[in-house]
Amino acid sequence: MAIHVLPEEIVARIAAGEAVERPASVAKELIENAIDAGASSIHVEVAGGGRQLLRVSDNGAGIPDEEINLAFRRHATSKLRKVEDLEALTTLGFRGEALASIAAVSQATIITRQRDGSAGTRLNLDAGALRHQERIGAPAGTVVAVENLFFNTPARLKFLKSDVTEKRHIHWVTARYAMAYPGIAFVLKQDGRERFRSSGNGDLADVVSRAMGLKAFKSMVAVDCLEHSRLGRPKIQVSGFVSLPAISRASRDRIILFVNGRAVQDSALSRAITQAYDGLLKSGAYPFAVLLITTPADFVDVNVHPTKAEVRFRDSSAIFLAVQRAVREALVECGDKLPAADIWSDSGFSEQYLEYRRPLPDWRRFEGSDLLDNPAGQYIPEVAELPAKPRTLPVLRLVGQVGAAYIVAEAPAGVYLVDQNAAHERVLYEELMEELKAGGLRLKALDEGQTIALDPPDVERLENNAPLLAKLGFEIESFGPSTFLIRSLPACIARRTSADLLPPLLKQLRQTGADEGAALSALAAAGALSRGQVLAEDEMRALIAKLEYCADPLAAPSGRKIFIHLSSAELAEEFRRA
Ligand code: ADP
Ligand code: MG
Repeated sequence: MAIHVLPEEIVARIAAGEAVERPASVAKELIENAIDAGASSIHVEVAGGGRQLLRVSDNGAGIPDEEINLAFRRHATSKLRKVEDLEALTTLGFRGEALASIAAVSQATIITRQRDGSAGTRLNLDAGALRHQERIGAPAGTVVAVENLFFNTPARLKFLKSDVTEKRHIHWVTARYAMAYPGIAFVLKQDGRERFRSSGNGDLADVVSRAMGLKAFKSMVAVDCLEHSRLGRPKIQVSGFVSLPAISRASRDRIILFVNGRAVQDSALSRAITQAYDGLLKSGAYPFAVLLITTPADFVDVNVHPTKAEVRFRDSSAIFLAVQRAVREALVECGDKLPAADIWSDSGFSEQYLEYRRPLPDWRRFEGSDLLDNPAGQYIPEVAELPAKPRTLPVLRLVGQVGAAYIVAEAPAGVYLVDQNAAHERVLYEELMEELKAGGLRLKALDEGQTIALDPPDVERLENNAPLLAKLGFEIESFGPSTFLIRSLPACIARRTSADLLPPLLKQLRQTGADEGAALSALAAAGALSRGQVLAEDEMRALIAKLEYCADPLAAPSGRKIFIHLSSAELAEEFRRA
């Protein structure tokens, strides 16, 4: 066949295949248009799973008379003029393709009137061709009705799922946008029945509870975090709701994300959220979440994918860290509801410490206690007892975390950078050592046990060191020739699995024989918090507090250094030189 330029009709149908995959994609595009038009109320009506009819009505700006014939033309948009506009989009649409694509594969009707227009206009199209146009009376706003979707593309029609599935997709598209825009009132009707409604009163909690269901909503906590911009870094706001670790799902399918009001699917971002649950959820269990991420428009590239479901970030690591930190903060803040959240306070020490450090009582903690009922107004909390151990470091004030790996702190003597991994290794080592001296490690029973398969040499080592392993908190049963069932783990590192802990421990025993100190050092290394873990402020404070009372806080048991110290004099000198 000779090369030739395709007629517009075929081009339109090919393009339609990209943007209009199923009825829910039509709903998505029409809802986005209504939002872009500034609507405060959006109605979605569906019949026959969206194939028969999909109608979206809004009370937005309407389309000016002189532009109406352009709306259904490909690459006709009111939202973009110059190529630079693509760099900082503030509207959901910009491709000028949706209406043309939808109209090409359906019979579409549009009725629109501008708020101050004298009358409205009605257009009927059939497979993209204009059939009828008239002036009519109409309320301000726009109604787009799409009938007989894919009637002229039988192949596409064949791939559609059952009505029930298509309806479910349309439901979620509507619910998603309702959550992203709590200030807009949405109504969804399917086959004449109301299926979803949001009030438009601007209250995110209200919409999320309707969209996710009250039961799920009750197991969620609010996330609300604003990171101010720094040189070259975006300002990032993360708000929404995430599930508490007590409840989870078997897949990531209810991690709902919006970036600047746009629903996106981003596996790296949803991984960032899942990682914030590190140590709180079993592997294979996922949280559910509704998160609205807001960042300056020029930090996001939305022109990546025809359905605009993917975005690219100019500074993705800043976004991921902000999201992780926001979620982690929210989870740690409601720590009293978390079953496994006491990551740092196994000894009960960090709690006391935080109490002691806070200059003012935290009223939430004293709620219902007799302190509040004290008529004499004696609101001063009892000073928690200080740990018996002597302090080995100056009091460090937490500044923050960099690169999800180092904690920054300051003291009168200057700035300290703390390697969180080495620091935690040290803290764990001393805790384990103390427990061992007191008779044996505290153990945590595993409900179902964990099976582990070992190599023959490890099997032998395990059997030869059974008494030591028991003293270290491992209850082990034989489960097959080279498989074992682990019934318990040392309590203070039980957020790790036996697969994380046992192999390095056995390796150590091979090198050093049954040496208790060496075994503890291997356990501390295997159990320590990794680099790359974003920490909430309270977690960092607790870690530093524990470190301040370690016998040897300067190096991890493996010898790696924990601190880099920049004295005030060094800092001053460094700046003077320039
Ligand atoms: P895009 O949204 O990418 O601009 P569309 O094909 O979805 O492209 O819409 C084309 C144009 O039609 C829009 O730019 C807008 O000017 C107009 N339009 C579409 N839907 C509406 C609506 N509900 N209210 C007002 N104007 C609309
Ligand atoms: Mg659009």
